[in-house]
Amino acid sequence: MDCLGAEWGHMAAPGNSFPNFDPKLPGWLKIDFHLHSREDPKDDLEHSAIELLHRARALGFNALAITLHNKVLNDPAVFETARELGLLLIPAVELRLEGADVVVVNLTPEEARGLRKLSDLVEFRQRRGRSAFIFAPHPFYKLGGSMGGRQLSEHIDLFDAIEICHFHTSWFDPNRNAIRAAERFQKPLIATSDTHRLAYFGDHYSLVQAPPDATPEMIFDAIRAGCIRPVSPALTNAQFVNHLWWVFVEHRLGWLWKGRAK
Ligand SMILES: [Zn+2]
Repeated sequence: MDCLGAEWGHMAAPGNSFPNFDPKLPGWLKIDFHLHSREDPKDDLEHSAIELLHRARALGFNALAITLHNKVLNDPAVFETARELGLLLIPAVELRLEGADVVVVNLTPEEARGLRKLSDLVEFRQRRGRSAFIFAPHPFYKLGGSMGGRQLSEHIDLFDAIEICHFHTSWFDPNRNAIRAAERFQKPLIATSDTHRLAYFGDHYSLVQAPPDATPEMIFDAIRAGCIRPVSPALTNAQFVNHLWWVFVEHRLGWLWKGRAK
């Protein structure tokens, strides 16, 4: 695939928001493939999936994946709303397999139930080919189910991309390791918001070079080919403290506390 500007490569610098890149250029889709909502069985969140979709529309997104913990959201009303809003909503899930979080995009609830260990993804990957997309979320964050470098290296062939996690500042950025891993294994980086709160949605996303009527497979192919630009500006110190307060004190998010074995 020929994507704009080989000089962009598929690499992001820590905290780099690609300030010279104009997201309104035709042919680029704004995507976020790591989002949570009130339907999440693990976390007690305020916004519904439909509220998230309306916000996404207002923010100019084109394609989304809502990735509840261990549950594929398949409510027809949510998908109907997405269609009405002109959003491509792809069924997806964030699974904790052998203590490691993985995000799988474009699968059914039945398929998700069959994924219990990392090795189950091998068969899934072979069966589904290019029609499913798997990435490693926040792999170096050492909390909850972040998989760490060893598991990432061991299972690197399972992954289409490595996530740039939104939670970084100019002085705290475990994504540096993710960037090194992406370079080493020649994998694209995908920036997401991992939204657990609507107020935190919108600043962290990816731009993918694909036509407006692109299918999920076309978007996945473009990402695999490196036609993706992660947008992930460093949080300010005030935002960083606000996030920590919300995650650890105000909300005590379930995915952080329910252990690595689930
Ligand atoms: Zn998540």
